[in-house]
Amino acid sequence: MFNVTKKILVLPGDGIGPEIVSEAVKVLEVAKQKFKLDVALDNALVGGAAFDEFGSPLPEVTMEKARACDAILLGAVGGPKWDALEDREMRPEKGLLGLRSGLELFANFRPAILYPQLADASTLKPEVVSGLDILIVRELTGGIYFGKPRGIRTLENGEREGYNTYVYNETEIRRIAKVAFESAQKRGKKLCSIDKANVLEVTVLWREIMEEVSKDYPDVELSHMYVDNAAMQLVRAPKQFDVVVTGNMFGDILSDTAAMLTGSIGMLPSASLDTNNKGMYEPCHGSAPDIAGQGIANPLATILSVAMMLRYSLNEVVAADAIEKAVSDVLDKGLRTGDIFSDGMTKVSTSQMGEAVVAALQEAS
Ligand code: NAD
Repeated sequence: MFNVTKKILVLPGDGIGPEIVSEAVKVLEVAKQKFKLDVALDNALVGGAAFDEFGSPLPEVTMEKARACDAILLGAVGGPKWDALEDREMRPEKGLLGLRSGLELFANFRPAILYPQLADASTLKPEVVSGLDILIVRELTGGIYFGKPRGIRTLENGEREGYNTYVYNETEIRRIAKVAFESAQKRGKKLCSIDKANVLEVTVLWREIMEEVSKDYPDVELSHMYVDNAAMQLVRAPKQFDVVVTGNMFGDILSDTAAMLTGSIGMLPSASLDTNNKGMYEPCHGSAPDIAGQGIANPLATILSVAMMLRYSLNEVVAADAIEKAVSDVLDKGLRTGDIFSDGMTKVSTSQMGEAVVAALQEAS
């Protein structure tokens, strides 16, 4: 069998994107040498940076490269510079949504793991969050973020009205259900499906399909929870969850809540996969314009996204484990960016954190 070089497309994006991605790429380059990974890196623009250069947040040249590669590493997109753009289709976030839908990256994995070293960084009591290890599986290419019709219209009386459409078909629900059940099988065998079936018909169907698919996974215990209760339970007793599956909008909100349980959104990676495990890997956070350019952003979520990429899309599990271990080693040494800093620790910059992970990875046996 031929050894085919895997192509990784790097999309730094906006705000802190370029700062954190450059640290993650350093780590990837070291992993490439150390583990003899047959990978080739390419770059392209997306989001506001792409709009400034090409007049589109997702230029065709970027989309072509995205279609041709095996995995994408993305920083983040967006920022106040582009918030005033009248044409909503030109907003940076549209670049991201276009990549997700254009590549059919329908399954978004957001692990929320509390590193024991960061138990104090969470705003919740250590006993509530210590040992936390949740996987949120969010449907990413359907639901209200994509449903049509949508828009802002002017009514006959002159008043403006905004409208969106919340829609899921059986195929979309079934494929995310399968992915979630399979993930639960590999973990604690508990799956909680989050919906609002007491109010929304879309999620009545969601619940029915979840029940149907569950018959193929008798070893997984399926439960259902309304999204409002789930938001409460996530901060009340988060360790009751193993794998959570939910739609696009609920997943967007709940995964940010789960992020805070772990101390900082700056620690959380994510993966978005298609049916063939091609994926886009990115930190859960946004472009953090408030701290962009200051060299203080936490690059660990992006570095951990590289580990997820090696694990899920490139099947390089040893290299993935080594990167995750290097991150843990750096935390053991007490190095912290501002967002996870606490008394007695050593405050470091974005690049110092990246270099520390590189050094820990190089030292690893
Ligand atoms: P955000 O995640 O960018 O920032 C929220 C808060 O977390 C800010 O205080 C920020 O400083 C902090 N933060 C985020 N990442 C951090 C890191 N790595 N290290 C330290 N602190 C970090 O969310 P927001 O402020 O709501 O959005 C800012 C912009 O990002 C908006 O334009 C939004 O549309 C965009 N956004 C993009 C994505 C994405 O690209 N995937 C996701 C969410 C938001």
